[in-house]
Amino acid sequence: MSDYLPLGSTIGILGGGQLGRMLSVAAARLGYRSHVFEPAKAPPAAHVSDRLTTADYEDDEALMRFAEQVDVITYEFENIPSHALDTLERLRPIHPNRKALTTSQDRLTEKDFLTSLGLRTAPYAVVGSAAEMADAVATVGTPAILKTRRFGYDGKGQARLQTPQDAKQALADMAGAPALLEGFVSFSHEVSVIGARSRDGQVVCYDPGENVHRNGILHTTTVPAKLSVAQRTDAVILTGRILNALDYVGVMGVELFVTAGGLVVNEIAPRVHNSGHWTQNGCAVDQFEQHIRAIAGWPLSDGRRHSDIEMLNLIGDDIGSIDEFARDPAAAIHLYGKSQARPGRKMGHVNKVLGPAS
Ligand code: AMP
Repeated sequence: MSDYLPLGSTIGILGGGQLGRMLSVAAARLGYRSHVFEPAKAPPAAHVSDRLTTADYEDDEALMRFAEQVDVITYEFENIPSHALDTLERLRPIHPNRKALTTSQDRLTEKDFLTSLGLRTAPYAVVGSAAEMADAVATVGTPAILKTRRFGYDGKGQARLQTPQDAKQALADMAGAPALLEGFVSFSHEVSVIGARSRDGQVVCYDPGENVHRNGILHTTTVPAKLSVAQRTDAVILTGRILNALDYVGVMGVELFVTAGGLVVNEIAPRVHNSGHWTQNGCAVDQFEQHIRAIAGWPLSDGRRHSDIEMLNLIGDDIGSIDEFARDPAAAIHLYGKSQARPGRKMGHVNKVLGPAS
């Protein structure tokens, strides 16, 4: 255990949502304490973490106090303000690293990075003004999607263009935020790979999952995904290349479109990912434990899958059907402890075990 983060050390987690909650549980299982930093009061992770700091990302003193009380820092979301990172980074190591964060915080940087590795993305063009919008529509064509460069998630900050006539409205929808126009990719289905890289460069990927979205929010992930052997190999190799190029430590989600011409990378998330929740009941070591292992300097699990799984997100009022799942002996229920069910709010998920790994 000589190179491991000593047992009993404290892992600092930025963000106290459901991902922070499940990371805290995994840390505890491996003998670590967790300390969550979260601006909102009574976040889901508060129930299961050792300590909670309730403060803003602008509050430098709170950030410093938090950093001094932890041994290593990780996060559950990628939009951490950079000045907060400056403060934290001076005091403690942060995994995954700054490069992974800056690459994924901006859709333009992300796409430039992916294409520099020779990976395929949707055609894209930067849009900061009406003139650039006209140029972008001319280069990228329609149909297309205009997306804010930063702070988009679950399909938020996006406007669709069926024809060039929709350009004006789409640009207005961005409310002045810098944006990127993406050509519409004609895909048969969407898959994602949850990959991990350890401190000494071991790379392991879970089997790709097949994702179905509803209203821009992930609805189900099913493993195994419909992929040929060649597509599955490609998905895993391209994820490994991304992890290596970023000198990454931790778990990452890579979202892919499956097209007739091959795999197209939609986006990368430098954190544990909703489409990786199936690993909790499909693998001996799930994505949360894998992440804690990586940032604590442990060897990684090989990620093998023992069961076929369908993960179903419980969004808003879906939580009302919990009785039905509770009576199903093949359904593992994971709830986030959120008191109010609002439309679009992720309340929990159910991993339905479909059978032994096929
Ligand atoms: P995003 O927030 O970029 O992950 O987009 C949310 C969802 O919108 C994706 O999961 C896709 O279903 C769809 N989408 C995003 N970008 C494109 C694109 N360039 N072409 C086709 N569909 C897209």
